[in-house]
Amino acid sequence: MECATIGNLWLSSFLISSPSTLSCSRRALVSRDACTASLCSKTHKSFPSPLRCRALDSPSTAANLSSDSDLVERTSRKLNVAGPISKDVDWPSPDDEIPFWKRNFPYSDANLLVRSNVVKDSDTLHIIHITAEMAPIAKVGGLADVVTGLARACLSRGHTVDIMLPFYECIQKDQMSELTLITSYDSFHDGKWVSTNAYHGTVTGIPVIFIEPSNHFFKGKSVYGGSYDEMEAYLFFSRACLEWMQAAFVQPDIIHVHEWQASAVPLLYWDMYHHLSLRKPRITLTIHNMEHYGECRQEQLSKCGLDGSVYATEDKAVDDRTIGHNPERLSLLKGGIVYSNAVVTVSPTYLKETLCSGWLASTLIKCHDKYIGILNGIDYAVWNPATDIFLPAKFNAKNLEGKRLCKYYLQKGLGLDLKGEETINRNDDVIDASVKVPMVVCITRLVAQKGLHLIIHAIKHVEKLGGQMIVLGKAPDRRVENEFKHLADLLNQGPNVRILLMYSEELSHMVYAAADIVLVPSMYEPCGLSQMIGMRYGAVPIVRKTGGLADTVFDIDDQSNQEMANGFVFEGIDERSLSWALDRAFYHYRENPDEWAGMVRKVMEIDNSWNNTAGKYIDVYNSVRVR
Ligand code: ADP
Repeated sequence: MECATIGNLWLSSFLISSPSTLSCSRRALVSRDACTASLCSKTHKSFPSPLRCRALDSPSTAANLSSDSDLVERTSRKLNVAGPISKDVDWPSPDDEIPFWKRNFPYSDANLLVRSNVVKDSDTLHIIHITAEMAPIAKVGGLADVVTGLARACLSRGHTVDIMLPFYECIQKDQMSELTLITSYDSFHDGKWVSTNAYHGTVTGIPVIFIEPSNHFFKGKSVYGGSYDEMEAYLFFSRACLEWMQAAFVQPDIIHVHEWQASAVPLLYWDMYHHLSLRKPRITLTIHNMEHYGECRQEQLSKCGLDGSVYATEDKAVDDRTIGHNPERLSLLKGGIVYSNAVVTVSPTYLKETLCSGWLASTLIKCHDKYIGILNGIDYAVWNPATDIFLPAKFNAKNLEGKRLCKYYLQKGLGLDLKGEETINRNDDVIDASVKVPMVVCITRLVAQKGLHLIIHAIKHVEKLGGQMIVLGKAPDRRVENEFKHLADLLNQGPNVRILLMYSEELSHMVYAAADIVLVPSMYEPCGLSQMIGMRYGAVPIVRKTGGLADTVFDIDDQSNQEMANGFVFEGIDERSLSWALDRAFYHYRENPDEWAGMVRKVMEIDNSWNNTAGKYIDVYNSVRVR
């Protein structure tokens, strides 16, 4: 068999046509009516096709180091951070009527536009992402960051990229521009055609197509957890995306689907739309977190127009754990793995872990020739301490004065103990003292995966060590929320701990900027962005050695790997293992400030941007595309 290589992965040439283990089943089609959906297209405004994004010559793009430095210099001069600085800073206080992270920020796309100074790929593709999340307008966790960051990186390399997203009622509309209704059409759900609108807009320079059904799907105050059947809503959305492509005559080279929410797309594509008008696209699936399998009843899948019973086989989409049950259930994620042309997960170590454990391992092993681990990057346009609009002072690896100010600002704003405030000089200016207390931060969804018992232990241990700790987290589970609320009530009045149970993008930027240490004690972590963002903002990571954390953080005390060393790593899931890492970090911080400062500069200079890894995605796309 002929093989094409991508990196060190061998892809069988049969991927070039249809995925390995499936046979396109006509039986899966419920009815001819369900297939002729394109005829139901009502209106389709002429649509910028191929969808293009402006690649502006932005003088202050993230990678433009000289302008970044200028900005840092300018803010440093304005704030005079090296000397007296307080005059221009509107210092926050816990008593402020409007919390400091809710102030008006000078929103500007200037730093976010697609970079024009990136070397373009000669052979360009049209890629459409289908996703439940996108940063910053519909973000719950890392999925949102990854979709936006990867899309921007590919646009910068000259590809045409669009993101398709449900038009959630809660979506942050203030960050969309040029929103236009482009298509009114019908899409199928539960035996009926539902009238649906597709809007085109731009979000931080990236073209987005918003799918808005006329029914109750995607209504509510948050991205997830609305009062509708989430499985059915995402099945609807999956079909509506393909239906729109058909109605709008858009045939991308690659449809890139993410997580279980979009995992019905490969099934719908190969068993329905590929037999209609969509011939060209090939499908890439990225698994961001194997914890969510998209458990689905057969009759639920049938609601999107496929015959759910057809997929209840081991080589298709049956949830292997339910074999022999009555009825057997399906897993959309498994179906997505089987039916996609290429499957990516978000770090090489997580790839190995998923091949060794979990019930999906056997499916992944069968598909191993199309399964690859690509480490996520972070979006350097968004995560850049030299241009970050949310920071009271900018900084970079060469000039860290702004970071000191950010820490002091946060301590003041949250009412944390300003150790050594007495040494603030009489002009009421910031001094070194407040930075002498190590600040540990943990910014995370508060779910079991993230090592809740270790986060709680860290809070207590950091306090015992005389440090300060900020937890910024949201708990989807009421019991977890109550546990952390209880802790917050107990500790937030004190001088050294703040447990902030909320989601705030703005505050997260400020907390990363203020941090000396970023803690990620996850039980498992497919990739983890928090440690990478922390490093970008000069926080030294402490992580548990698992998944992508093991691929991005290397222990400072490991003498055999000093070149890569950039943080503190522990292996056990017990409290003592974490204490050991915290103790070592505090020791380094206090006993050897010069070495610590060097480490801060080193972690800031590590390139965890998409520049590094977007090319691997392009290789995957090229390996499956058809011409
Ligand atoms: P996951 O995808 O499992 O949530 P990641 O580390 O990959 O974890 O990505 C988490 C992303 O969500 C990061 O951008 C992090 O800063 C952000 N985040 C998590 N919790 C919060 C919160 N409470 N407020 C603001 N941002 C948060």
